[in-house]
Amino acid sequence: MEEASEAVRRQIAEIDIDSSRPLLITDADEVLLQFVRALEAHLQSNALYLDLTSFALTGNIKRQSDDHALSSTEVRRILSGFFEEKTEHVAPVDGAAEALAALSKRARIVVLSNIATHLGPARQRGLARHGMDYPVIANSGPKGPSVRHLARLAGPAPVFFLDDIPGNHESVAAAADDVIRLHFVADPRLARLVQTAESAHARIDDWPGARAFIEAHLDGTG
Ligand SMILES: [Mg+2]
Repeated sequence: MEEASEAVRRQIAEIDIDSSRPLLITDADEVLLQFVRALEAHLQSNALYLDLTSFALTGNIKRQSDDHALSSTEVRRILSGFFEEKTEHVAPVDGAAEALAALSKRARIVVLSNIATHLGPARQRGLARHGMDYPVIANSGPKGPSVRHLARLAGPAPVFFLDDIPGNHESVAAAADDVIRLHFVADPRLARLVQTAESAHARIDDWPGARAFIEAHLDGTG
């Protein structure tokens, strides 16, 4: 089984994980932040649009002038420009800050986001501006190894994982099966397109519901 990367282990070493407290590991884009809405605004200003016909970006980013779908190389370039320019300025998902504030009284909260390492601080500032001042770990690739590393530090306390991408749930299930996995897709259009991850314990797409699910587990009633 693959280990967490050196870059991730270095970031985790800087935050303090207390084995007596539950740990909530949450994704950012489409869980805490309205990624698709922000991306659409960015595409608009580049004479492009997102044709949301499947849960994928490649093939669905098109030119306004002739509906031509950008190649995967062009999509990568657009996304990289978007993250460089806009990471700090993505609007929050409704209810996320309130739910995390309540949950942070009972659990340590860590944001595990697939973003370039140098953009981690911008992501952290953007979240803090919207009342979500929690440590951000910039991850790359499958999340399982990083989650397992965090879960080991949390010791016997329960660990929760939230993410919109089914593959991340599969990766976490394979690496750290004890982690309680909640599949969460904030944007209602995306939520309709994405099948619930088979390896998730629950699918909940709103923060009051996610909070209730986590609190029920913490109360021993979930
Ligand atoms: Mg995401």
